[in-house]
Amino acid sequence: MADQKKFLLTENDIPKQWYNVQADLPEPLDPALHPGTGQPAGPDDFAPLFPMELIQQEVSQDRWIDIPDPVREMYRMWRPTPLIRAIGLEKALGTPAKIFYKYEGVSPVGSHKPNTAIAQAYFNKIEGTKRIVTETGAGQWGSALAFACQQFGIEAKVYMVKASFDQKPYRKSMMETFGGTVTASPSSETNAGRTILGQDSESPGSLGIAISEAVEVAAGDPNSKYSLGSVLNHVLMHQTIIGQEAILQMEMADAYPDIVIGCAGGGSNLAGISFPFVANNLAGKTNTRFIAVEPEASPSLTKGNFLYDFGDAIGMTPLLKMHTLGHSFVPNPIHAGGLRYHGMAPLISALFEAGVYEARAYHQTTCFEAAVLFASTEGIIPAPEPTHALKAAIDEALVAKETGEEKNILFHLCGHGHLDLSAYDSYFSGDMLDYALPQEEITEAMRSVPDLG
Ligand SMILES: *Cc1c(COP(=O)(O)O)cnc(C)c1O
Repeated sequence: MADQKKFLLTENDIPKQWYNVQADLPEPLDPALHPGTGQPAGPDDFAPLFPMELIQQEVSQDRWIDIPDPVREMYRMWRPTPLIRAIGLEKALGTPAKIFYKYEGVSPVGSHKPNTAIAQAYFNKIEGTKRIVTETGAGQWGSALAFACQQFGIEAKVYMVKASFDQKPYRKSMMETFGGTVTASPSSETNAGRTILGQDSESPGSLGIAISEAVEVAAGDPNSKYSLGSVLNHVLMHQTIIGQEAILQMEMADAYPDIVIGCAGGGSNLAGISFPFVANNLAGKTNTRFIAVEPEASPSLTKGNFLYDFGDAIGMTPLLKMHTLGHSFVPNPIHAGGLRYHGMAPLISALFEAGVYEARAYHQTTCFEAAVLFASTEGIIPAPEPTHALKAAIDEALVAKETGEEKNILFHLCGHGHLDLSAYDSYFSGDMLDYALPQEEITEAMRSVPDLG
């Protein structure tokens, strides 16, 4: 039976600053490299793509960065978000563990993505950008950016990964409702898209390919900028308002988390829920476990290599030191479209190498099984991506049942699945496939990665 306890904050508790984990890293991040020269990329290299404020945030070593008032005002539309103790789920599992989740599905588009979309649209607006071009996987990011751009009177153009464009038609409707323009990727509108279509006219697309298209269009138009919904340092930083709120809410619950869990596509929702808690570990105050959960079909942390690679499929973006499956890797069309990315945020990658994060991977059917149980005990239908975090939370709660330990488990429910119900249909009908990723595919894609160490 459904049974839960909510921990709610007031508007005054919305954080006033973003937390920048770069200030607390054991070692500084390796710099982004210019795609042509292989030398460290400077602010001028990024200027055609991003407003200067975001370029500065990307490399800032300040621990706290003020959230501008207009951004915080906008956050009030849906923040603070609830933190909920899943008592019904605990009972169903018979675990002595307490399971908490932070729920970002209450935002205007149903996920955590507007936290950074609003900030990025604002900084673009004050620097005079007329149009923002971006990519989207499952459509969550495109929806968030279209919404944010509309709020600040900027045009939004979105390249949507074709597999998701076909699977999730209502995401397009949502983007258009918020005034955005949507194109399925790979498209014939760009050189990048035409190149991919020339190799495979049936390509399902990938985030890497869609990024190539968006970057090409933004770089070719002085009134346009590009925007990324994950991976980059400033994007992860904007999401830290989630974890800051969660710290206050866990205090209300009188329960500090022993384990914090998030799904990991590019790393932004995981960073958002976890970095403020990671700060306490890095300061030696706590010993929390942090778990990144990936799909078996796109396992960049669990099976990828930690080295410099491009962020996009064609090799137009700066090179980032990260866990990668190779930029030419096209993941199978799993329903968790937001997790179909070849790389991983450099910040999450570095903290994984430093032993702060653990990582594991699951197949999608086992995640949907967990989601159906969760819907019955919590009355929320999760997006396909956070079903991976949910599955890990359940597994940890079952370990606690074995050992009899009263652990506090916090997982991130970063979005609802109301526009992903076709994925649930496919699970119920037995059509859902589990894709095992053969090592040869990774080896093949890694051949395209430049040898920069
Ligand atoms: C975009 C998205 C993801 C994947 O991106 P991260 O940067 O890893 O968070 C996961 N879940 C949802 C609901 C998303 O919208």
